Amino acid sequence: MERTPPVSASDVTPSVQQEVSRLAGLPEVRAAFGRFRFEEPQFAQWQMEVSRVAAPPFGETARGEWLAGRFRELGLSDVQMDEVGNVFGVRPGYGSRFVSLSAHIDTVFPATTPLNIRQQGTRLYGPGVSDNAAGIVAMLAVASVIDSSRIPHALPFVFIGNVGEEGEGDLRGMRHVFQTPRWRDAIAYSLIVDGAGSDTVVAEALGSRRFEVIARGPGGHS
Ligand SMILES: [Zn+2]
Repeated sequence: MERTPPVSASDVTPSVQQEVSRLAGLPEVRAAFGRFRFEEPQFAQWQMEVSRVAAPPFGETARGEWLAGRFRELGLSDVQMDEVGNVFGVRPGYGSRFVSLSAHIDTVFPATTPLNIRQQGTRLYGPGVSDNAAGIVAMLAVASVIDSSRIPHALPFVFIGNVGEEGEGDLRGMRHVFQTPRWRDAIAYSLIVDGAGSDTVVAEALGSRRFEVIARGPGGHS
């Protein structure tokens, strides 16, 4: 995903800021922040594990199966892979509409790329360790911490590892999700985590235009 200009805090209405502050102060949410720190070694382990499963464009099945295994371990229900390779896991709630939390599981790297994933001190290195192993693990971390902190929530969650976000994947995974009758009208809110850091939040629809460019000439060096 490409960078977009950041939204400054002043763009957020006071009532939203107040509500976020109120939620952040709840004992369950404060406990959840503690759980994120406590479980961090597990998150780093997952991040290295998933990075070692190649997921080039149109070759995401093995990584999808890895993710389905983690969804099952975390106690999510209805864990399944759809016909294009998206992976789903549900945390039940009350009501028929869902909050989706998704992360793309494909990388930009061809299948032949050596995956020399390693940890040096507190840093992780290797192809795709940030984009989007970090996003995948952020999604797993939320699923884990909501459970261990017993945070009450009304709407059910659906966690989605989607294929085909990068390059010629052309968003085929998410396009498929929102063309599927089960999900098209059932997802009320959609949160997407991509890459590392929290310096950029895009709070509106993110446009995506794809161009095919054909250049004709006498040839020579590319
Ligand atoms: Zn990405």
